[in-house]
Amino acid sequence: MTPRIALLGFSIECNRFAPVATRPDFTGRCWLEGEAILTDARSAAPRALAEMPGFVADMDAAGPWQPAPILLAMAEPNGPVDAAVFAAMMATWRAGLESAKGQVDGVYAVMHGAGLTTDDHDPEGTIQAMVREVLGDIPFVASYDLHANVSDRMVQTVDAFIGYRTNPHLDMRERGAESAQVLRRLLAGERFHRGHRRLPIVSPQTALLTAQGPYAEVIDLGQDIAAQDPRIVNVSVMAGFSYADTPFNGFSVIVTATEQDAAEALAQRLAEEAWARRSRFVANLTSLDDAVRRAKDSAIPLAFADVADNPGGGGSGNTVWILEAFHKAGVDNALLGMLLDAPLAIEAHALGVGARFTARFNRDTGDDPFSRPFEAEATVRAVSDGNVTGRRGIYRGTAMTLGRTVCLQVGGIAVVVTEGRAQCADPVFFEHLGLDIGAARAVVVKSRGHFRGGFDEFFAHDQVVEVDCPGLTSPILTRFDWQNLPRPVLPIDAEARWP
Ligand SMILES: [Zn+2]
Repeated sequence: MTPRIALLGFSIECNRFAPVATRPDFTGRCWLEGEAILTDARSAAPRALAEMPGFVADMDAAGPWQPAPILLAMAEPNGPVDAAVFAAMMATWRAGLESAKGQVDGVYAVMHGAGLTTDDHDPEGTIQAMVREVLGDIPFVASYDLHANVSDRMVQTVDAFIGYRTNPHLDMRERGAESAQVLRRLLAGERFHRGHRRLPIVSPQTALLTAQGPYAEVIDLGQDIAAQDPRIVNVSVMAGFSYADTPFNGFSVIVTATEQDAAEALAQRLAEEAWARRSRFVANLTSLDDAVRRAKDSAIPLAFADVADNPGGGGSGNTVWILEAFHKAGVDNALLGMLLDAPLAIEAHALGVGARFTARFNRDTGDDPFSRPFEAEATVRAVSDGNVTGRRGIYRGTAMTLGRTVCLQVGGIAVVVTEGRAQCADPVFFEHLGLDIGAARAVVVKSRGHFRGGFDEFFAHDQVVEVDCPGLTSPILTRFDWQNLPRPVLPIDAEARWP
């Protein structure tokens, strides 16, 4: 039998406190309809993140199959998606599913899992429920970012729930391939069950590394147990994304297994292991003053992460707290990337290499409390069109568009300024402008953690400094006006209890 598989996807991580995401946020990053999904997935540098390419490659390798591709829409993290934009996507997916009805044997969906719309806390649950409504009880596998906020509906409507296991995310392609393998087991007649536990823990994003720390320990334990128990199909330990601020935020464990009891028992065991580590899901940041001192005095090169203005978590990517403080203190031989400032990038791009001018950062940011203006004398060191292919980490092999991009020398700091918004997670964002990361004494990145997967060649774990500045992605969660989080919840409310 040649399996016929419907393909779709919706991927955006939504920060409740960031500006509303619109259609250009998707079309400018990755909007693929119909056959374009397959063409992109099979290309050398796909625009889609690696799950769909991984799924398609695994299916291609396993033998003949018939894809029924519908719509794969991805955007960089942002605010909630405009409800009308999402409704139009839903209409496209519904039409595709209706026409696939009776023609397909299974479904694969790329579902980031931390999406929002302006009127829906759970757009992924809405999409998945529609898949079931239209296609009924056919095998359905979905894969998720480990930052997914997992609703009951998301777990109930799929046959297998496949979450990333690495943060920074380096296993997207593997999870896409795993999704294909699990879907083929379902097509061969196996039936799976899911167990799900949710804890009142909304961890700061900086406490969720998977190379070390409490999150790594729970993930590793789950994989060790799964490897010894043939009933376990998948273990997904989902830490969630605090800034989405939904009623179902909370550290979740989802186990897919061939027996319900096995799924429930392992989900319970891992939830208990995570709860036992609850006091360790906290942020440990460095003050800006201490960061300045370390930038000036350190005997070894350091990476400074502007974790509170991470475009990868919905941050605006334009705050200047670190730039201003480092400049004022005379920090030398430093790189900083990337500042989103379209007017400045366009102006400097037009002035050209060698031009000297007064760079006016954030000249028009309205009443944004975080993005205050800053002026300094600057020289244009390099310019580019901003079309790059990721070299290492989460963007490896992915085609990225930064728009007009410049490197401005501001005192001792080479600042990369872009027209478009992206997280500084890949060395290529500096390197394509001729900047030498290995020769710099201090490298400032607007990234919470994905830079670790890209810049690990230059900076070991103990060379990374997470700086405490104001911003839309501050790990200090008491600074936000939460409206929807289940309370009490750790680490915000010390009195939180489970079960
Ligand atoms: Zn993520």
